[in-house]
Amino acid sequence: MERTDEMTGPSLVVLTGAGISAESGLGTFRSRDGIWAKYDLYKVATPQAFASDPAMVHDFYNLRRKACLKANPHAGHTALACLQREWRGEFQLITQNVDDLHERAGSENVLHMHGELLRARCHSCGHRWPAPRRMDPKDECPKCFRAATRPDVVWFGEEPYHMDEIYRLTRLAEVFVVIGSSGQVYPAADLADIAMGRGAKTYELNIEPTGGPFISGIYGPASETLPEWVDRLIGAQ
Ligand code: NAD
Repeated sequence: MERTDEMTGPSLVVLTGAGISAESGLGTFRSRDGIWAKYDLYKVATPQAFASDPAMVHDFYNLRRKACLKANPHAGHTALACLQREWRGEFQLITQNVDDLHERAGSENVLHMHGELLRARCHSCGHRWPAPRRMDPKDECPKCFRAATRPDVVWFGEEPYHMDEIYRLTRLAEVFVVIGSSGQVYPAADLADIAMGRGAKTYELNIEPTGGPFISGIYGPASETLPEWVDRLIGAQ
């Protein structure tokens, strides 16, 4: 978040979750037909799962990477990128999503707190590089040459990325908006509360109310509500 002299609007932090990518065809996690209804999270999204069955974990993420590469951003993603360009105050987009739809819609400097499907990481030395379409337990790290490559995503029980910066931005936010997140995954779920405790106005955009700490919300599919909301915000500056 960079401030320049001609900026006049309040600082705005937007946190997105799986709901913003639902209409692009990438399932959410907690809905009745969501990803966790089909997979046991302890078998595919924990360090223990990777230690006991890396092939199964890679299969799961290979499928998700394939779906991500087939998906396209929708009007909601595009509207957020437009908001970043037009907003006359500081702006920061934080996402819990591991897809790259925000970037493909034109958003910049996105903080991916749960990592990125299209990046690979060495479980041994920590080196990171662009992921191939399919990853395999036998793949070697290009730096240390150990066969310890993993998707660069944050698994349950691991510390999310960029948390110092995310807490700093959350405490400074004057407006904090959560889009398409159930508020059930921590520490992301705490952020709106922290922002509100520091005096920020907090809002949510979701298909239905989540009961989170928001002064108000806009409810409906993100591809429809976001373009209208962004138009209104930009128009009111
Ligand atoms: P979640 O599945 O727990 O909640 C999704 C939220 O989106 C729900 O509140 C739901 O009501 C809302 N929603 C569903 N369809 C919507 C739509 N069309 N428009 C607006 N809102 C809609 O997801 P979460 O809160 O992000 O947390 C779960 C975890 O899921 C995160 O850690 C994230 O990394 C991971 N995840 C990411 C992806 C992705 O990268 N696309 C997909 C699935 C899960």
